[in-house]
Amino acid sequence: MDYKSEYLHPQYEALSREELQKLQLERLQATVQHCMNSPFYKARFEQCGLKPEDIQSLDDIRKIPFTTKQDLRDTYPFGMASVPLTKCVRLHSSSGTTGNPTVILHTQKDLDEWANAVARCLWMVGLRPDDVFQNSSGYGMFTGGLGFQYGAERLGALTVPAAAGNSLRQIKFIKDFGTTAIHAVPSYVTRLYEVMQQEGVDPRRDTKLKVLAIGAEPHSEEQRKRIEDMLGVKAYNSFGMSEMCGPGVGFECKEQNGLHFWEDYYIVEIVDPETLEPVPDGEIGELVLTTLNREAMPLLRYRTRDLTRVLGRTCPCGRNHIRLDRMKGRSDDMMVLRGVNIFPIQIEKILMQFDELASNYLITLTTDDDNDNMTVEVELEKFDDDYAKLQKLEKEIRRRLKDEILLTPFVKLVPKGTLPVSEGKAVRVVDKRKVYQ
Ligand code: AMP
Ligand code: ZN
Repeated sequence: MDYKSEYLHPQYEALSREELQKLQLERLQATVQHCMNSPFYKARFEQCGLKPEDIQSLDDIRKIPFTTKQDLRDTYPFGMASVPLTKCVRLHSSSGTTGNPTVILHTQKDLDEWANAVARCLWMVGLRPDDVFQNSSGYGMFTGGLGFQYGAERLGALTVPAAAGNSLRQIKFIKDFGTTAIHAVPSYVTRLYEVMQQEGVDPRRDTKLKVLAIGAEPHSEEQRKRIEDMLGVKAYNSFGMSEMCGPGVGFECKEQNGLHFWEDYYIVEIVDPETLEPVPDGEIGELVLTTLNREAMPLLRYRTRDLTRVLGRTCPCGRNHIRLDRMKGRSDDMMVLRGVNIFPIQIEKILMQFDELASNYLITLTTDDDNDNMTVEVELEKFDDDYAKLQKLEKEIRRRLKDEILLTPFVKLVPKGTLPVSEGKAVRVVDKRKVYQ
């Protein structure tokens, strides 16, 4: 390890576009060949008459059918594996709201590569072996726990598996161990800061914090800025997904100009979710990922349901790995209210622009007298009993929300600490509407 190097893996990070594409084609061909060992893919290929030798260029990826979450459910638990189970050393599972959960299998090589990918991300934002990395995310089946644990260890940082919750203990660790970097979901970071305030801890004065990895859930640029201002740190967006391994798939560099998705590990496509045709760079579509170095359970053209767009394929940081915009949300997060499509992140973006508001909010959809309504509850930064002032604020929030989402929601200002906080991914929407058949 060369501490001074910009890159942890210069042989992959610093490739030109042409070199990257050459590597991608080699790895795609090997992956498709390897998928012949998976009962699922073997049957799929037979159905559509695809042979591994049909993949002669990167464009030929379009000959391969898409894989969906439903495919993972249908083959639950092990029907997607491309290696015998005896070669697998770990599985992760993500629970769905309906039906079978999905299972992702890993060989030892998969785990090693995953740790390498996470280490590469952390190195990219300046972490080195003399850093103290506190992982304040859930452990267990959620990949943000073990994924960052092994990644930070691989980098050589002193790694603290603090897990999520118990904020007083987290703060004690941060102070006592000299924690310089934290990984957590953004909604938990704001909670942690609130407890710091209550305890009279000033992160700038009393801690050595400098870098945060925030991710696993959609959040706005405004939310990131708030976190950076609150803690006096740089906060980098981290994209992960269990089906691809977990964290380490996409991460911002110091330029903070989008997420670099590692193209030696994945082929990135952005498609129109209706027609499934590619959309031009800059246009929003569904992210589709193909794994290029996974052994136990490679996935071809996996429809992530996440909506984003390509921002660029080069970067002032010197990495030519594709840059994607922060996720707008998942297509299944989209609320349709009175015929208007709304993403929670649009509401967050507006709320975070008001200094009077804290960071926690909850959107509730209801049917009242046959009308569908939205209520946005949001916590106030400071207690205020000036009713007229609060009314004015409420009115202004409603006006700004209407400009953004084209509907006027009810707005309720509530005292700080009254809305539910989850230790894992935040629940932002509760849908209590009547469903008419
Ligand atoms: P899981 O596999 O349970 O960890 O969930 C993966 C999903 O979390 C992704 O498909 C995204 O919808 C969401 N997600 C992960 N990281 C981010 C991020 N940085 N920004 C927005 N959404 C994210
Ligand atoms: Zn960059």
